[in-house]
Amino acid sequence: MKVLILGGGLAGLAAGCELADREGLELTLIERRPYLGGRASSFFHKGLGEEVDLGQHVFLRCCSAYLTFLRKIGAQEMVSLQPRLSLEVRGRDGRVGLIRGSPLPGPLYLFPSILRLPFLSPREKLRLLPALARALTSRRSRAEGTFREWLERHGQGRTAESERFWDFLILPTLNDHSENVTARMGLMVLQEAFLKGHAADLGYPRVGLSHLAAKAGDYILERGGELILGKGAEALQIEGDLARSARLSDGQVLEADGFIIALPPEGLLRILSQEWQLHSFFARAGQLAWNPIVNLYLWLDRPVLEGELLAFLDSPVQWVFNKSKILGRTRPGQELCLSLSGAWELISLPPERLFQMLLEELRRLLPGVREAKVEQYLVVKQLRATISLVPGMEAYRLPSRTPIKNLFLAGDWTDTGWPSTMEGAVRSGLEAARHLIDYLAGRSEEE
Ligand SMILES: Cc1cc2nc3c(=O)[nH]c(=O)nc-3n(C[C@H](O)[C@H](O)[C@H](O)COP(=O)(O)OP(=O)(O)OC[C@H]3O[C@@H](n4cnc5c(N)ncnc54)[C@H](O)[C@@H]3O)c2cc1C
Repeated sequence: MKVLILGGGLAGLAAGCELADREGLELTLIERRPYLGGRASSFFHKGLGEEVDLGQHVFLRCCSAYLTFLRKIGAQEMVSLQPRLSLEVRGRDGRVGLIRGSPLPGPLYLFPSILRLPFLSPREKLRLLPALARALTSRRSRAEGTFREWLERHGQGRTAESERFWDFLILPTLNDHSENVTARMGLMVLQEAFLKGHAADLGYPRVGLSHLAAKAGDYILERGGELILGKGAEALQIEGDLARSARLSDGQVLEADGFIIALPPEGLLRILSQEWQLHSFFARAGQLAWNPIVNLYLWLDRPVLEGELLAFLDSPVQWVFNKSKILGRTRPGQELCLSLSGAWELISLPPERLFQMLLEELRRLLPGVREAKVEQYLVVKQLRATISLVPGMEAYRLPSRTPIKNLFLAGDWTDTGWPSTMEGAVRSGLEAARHLIDYLAGRSEEE
């Protein structure tokens, strides 16, 4: 049986690797770009002579499907995962805190270091504890409104200290502020990541992101699958309630028995006929809103940061990654990546302004940068980095099964129950693959 996957991001790749394991399937994956990985990819910048990620990517130990996927494709050595969370956090005023996993079990794992944080007053810390305890026992499905509203209902005032603390957890994980995300997603982050022991241990790739995606591509090829890169799908031919074929940008028409569409929502709508675009099931996908991420890469003439990463409170510079150390580069100088989530105010600034502004701030935060010379820099803006999680948006996240019987959806934007992350993308791909296998098995029985 022939199977076609459209889209070579993590969702399409996870589906592809799952299906590649199955006997009797003739698998083809189509990716519009000449390389795999989608939003989780890297590219070679000719002008700079450097390989750069579309944006720094981080995962947590709770991203179990992503970690299993990495092991399956043999890429577990290409990432690192802290054995115990350790994150230095600095305030703009120079105060330093360390968030470290403790030997305490389950939900208590992070409590000692949170209680030692210098950024929260004793009063604020006392207030925090009942809210965290409440988060443990709250039923997510029942939570209404925004996460900020939920926090206020549970004793978290609108003080600068409290907002700063919660944003520190929510902004990097959900790419938005507490007042813009649903209470369900805020609780999900607390329950799945912060209140489950080692679940919050941090991980990040030790190679450019495209190398991880290429491993997944190799996995598919080694099992007899086919990759078509550099050609996009342009139209899907559907007869009744069955998809028949996809037309590619070079005019080639590929027929298949089953389809997984792992494209962004606008890509999905573009390949459907007008009739299907307006269908009440698919039309919803066009309503999804997106949040931006900006990354600034700096190449300095000398090292200014010893550790691998550092987070800042209350500063437009949210996280700094020491790429030289993470990627094991031995040449002199240092490459840093500043990663800025929920970057609405920054996304429209010209790169030169953005660079000047962030460099000035970095010089305030890290004294070593004042003496350093910036040899080159690059601003990478992603306007549509992750989907918005404002209340109401869940209604536009489509399930994997569709009214077209042999066509299944995947993508971080689909209804995975997870935020728009690598973990969500992989889960969606696996789910779509399972549905497709079930469909094909049912069809064989009928025949
Ligand atoms: C800057 C940035 C930072 C991020 N940081 C993190 C992080 O720290 N942690 C985390 O977990 N997540 C992070 N994310 C989110 C993560 O990258 C995504 O959730 C994930 O990669 C989405 O995968 P996907 O396969 O669902 O979608 P995509 O990666 O968007 O894949 C869709 C693919 O379809 C292809 N395509 C489009 N149209 C066609 C067509 N017509 N025919 C064929 N192919 C087509 C695209 O080229 C693309 O490769 C970040 C994203 C960005 C942009």
